Amino acid sequence: MTEPYLPSSGRYEKLPYFRSGRSGLLLPRISLGLWQNFGETHPLANGQALLRRAFDLGITHFDLANNYGPPPGAAEITFGCVLREDFLPYRDEMIISSKAGYTMWPGPYGDWGSRKYMLASLDQSLKRTGLEYFDIYYSHRPDPNTPVEETMGALDHAVRAGKALYAGISNYSADQTRAAAAALRALGTPCIIHQASYNMFNRRVETGLLAALDDEAIGLIVFSPLAQGLLTSRYLTGTPEDSRVAQGGPFLKSEHLTPEKIGMARQLNELAQARGQSLAQLAITWIFRHKQVTSALIGASKVSQIEELCAGVAAPALSGDEIERIEAILQNKP
Ligand code: NDP
Repeated sequence: MTEPYLPSSGRYEKLPYFRSGRSGLLLPRISLGLWQNFGETHPLANGQALLRRAFDLGITHFDLANNYGPPPGAAEITFGCVLREDFLPYRDEMIISSKAGYTMWPGPYGDWGSRKYMLASLDQSLKRTGLEYFDIYYSHRPDPNTPVEETMGALDHAVRAGKALYAGISNYSADQTRAAAAALRALGTPCIIHQASYNMFNRRVETGLLAALDDEAIGLIVFSPLAQGLLTSRYLTGTPEDSRVAQGGPFLKSEHLTPEKIGMARQLNELAQARGQSLAQLAITWIFRHKQVTSALIGASKVSQIEELCAGVAAPALSGDEIERIEAILQNKP
């Protein structure tokens, strides 16, 4: 690895921190996820540079899941390397999360939301990262065939066993969220955070989840706020060779770059420039208009991308007129 790491002494003067729901947990306005760009296909040195710069900029929250890679598990191993090399003295300054819910190992116990899977996977994630505990442990998706009380019981157990400090859920619908929150409340471990996708091209959370989160006092951490890069300057004039699309992964593909989406992104880019922002910064400002949103959980392949998004946090909120103009471009109000 590289030279010894000494974090920036001014790191807590750069980003604001917002409370997740009705909890004591403060999260940075921008959080960094390790879903992409931290697997075996990417140099460890780049992952290390991204994590170091993020922490220097006040990003205290790093999001993992058992299956992040490739191969599954690799992102947790990468994070563990950087933790040992750079971050151990600062562990108490960090919020590190992991999740289980998607396919992780073969057979009936390596997927979904059984107590068996959730707790075995947690132990594996702790081992891969070298952490003694996660700050947040999530059910990554609802399991239609396991009682929600069982899945939430596993999260409650993780907290009581000292292997997690807080319990969270991800990709649950509004009704599933209410049921999960009730199950956790009954056990005495509140659900304090929900991780859901939200961006200008995907507004599902506006159809009921935001209201449920408000009722339950659960904070929303938004994943893919940039629509994996579609809501940035990345694809406005073509497909750069080093982009997520060009790398040919299974998630963002060239067929997602439709003329309609690129046309909207170009119009949004003009609107962003008129208010002195980049498109990526505008996309983040746009999700912050909801009070339920605690943090924007971004991904990044380059240090400059993290810098740009952190710099954009100080931008003024959107005016009513700007919100209307964005609606006129998107034409997708739920
Ligand atoms: P984003 O929507 O933030 O997309 C990130 C990508 O956008 C980057 O990899 C980069 O693309 C591009 N980008 C970022 N910043 C800029 C910039 N300033 N200018 C230009 N392009 C930029 O989020 P992700 O889809 O990566 O998801 C973020 C995190 O959310 C994940 O790491 C994970 O922690 C979490 N997540 C959770 C899920 C769940 O089910 N709970 C599902 C998916 C994600 P490029 O690589 O091409 O440079």
